[in-house]
Amino acid sequence: MTARIKNLCVIGTGLIGGSFSLALKQAGGCEKVIGAGRSEETLQKAQQLNIIDSYETDISAAVKDADLVFVSVPLGAMADVFEKIATGLKQAANEKAVITDAGSSKQQVLQLAEKIFTFNPGRFVAGHPIAGTENSGPAAAFAELYNNRRVILTPTEKTDDDAIRLVTELWQQAGADVETMDAEHHDKVLAATSHLPHLIAFGLVHCLENIDDIEDVFRFAAGGFRDVTRIASSDPTMWRDICLNNQQPILDMMKRYKDELDMLYNALDAGDGEKLMEVFQHAKQTRDKFTH
Ligand code: NAP
Repeated sequence: MTARIKNLCVIGTGLIGGSFSLALKQAGGCEKVIGAGRSEETLQKAQQLNIIDSYETDISAAVKDADLVFVSVPLGAMADVFEKIATGLKQAANEKAVITDAGSSKQQVLQLAEKIFTFNPGRFVAGHPIAGTENSGPAAAFAELYNNRRVILTPTEKTDDDAIRLVTELWQQAGADVETMDAEHHDKVLAATSHLPHLIAFGLVHCLENIDDIEDVFRFAAGGFRDVTRIASSDPTMWRDICLNNQQPILDMMKRYKDELDMLYNALDAGDGEKLMEVFQHAKQTRDKFTH
């Protein structure tokens, strides 16, 4: 865990990029952080919060001296951002810079990277921190976000070993435990454990919106409702992009869940308490086993 870089460039200085920068600065893993993104307002805010030391509104200019480019923009913006990074690195003849991302699905990001980073193949290391909150923007960032949380890297056989090593060590300095995984497997696992739960939360709140007693539903919302729907406060743009980027694995999981709901519906309709008990007991045992 000794890697130390001179110039970190963070593109997208919100919750994920901002927290990575704060954590790495705190650990002494980088000397200077330059930010880039979409609006100058966000970059100014990130600078005020000491997330970045300086910023560029032009992404191609921001990356020219970077040792590591950390891309933490919504998945739908990745193609455009990757093109600008490639242009900037090429113009500066900076073919050694390592590029990594934090996008929540990995197969499509890898396809984009392979298509766009032809000038410096092997320097892109796909990644995904399994950490976050329902809040976004620079003000939501904090240095401890990644402490003891997992980060999954999904390198391919073409990724340079030294690039994987650098990204691994920097994430470790940010407090994370790093694992590597095949991108296809990553997308299936995350569809089940993160993407489906978010769709359930969004869908649950949405389906209650138009019922007559909505005021009372929210006024008397108990712990269970709050626990299950907390993540429905997450950023809609980010979640639209995740759904569209990981479409098939999420559809497969939704189908499983629909079948499960149908089964529970039928059991209840038939007054089949035995079936309900069986399902609830199994679900409790499974959750207790994996969370305790
Ligand atoms: P966020 O707080 O909303 O930050 C996103 C950042 O990207 C903002 O600085 C935003 O700038 C910038 N941005 C948006 N559109 C852009 C564009 N077209 N070009 C350049 N910059 C753009 O989001 P986040 O939660 O950090 O998520 C960032 C990435 O991390 C996403 O890919 C997400 O899938 C992934 N991720 C999120 C979580 C989570 O729990 N939040 C967890 C793991 C991974 P403006 O303010 O100017 O729009």
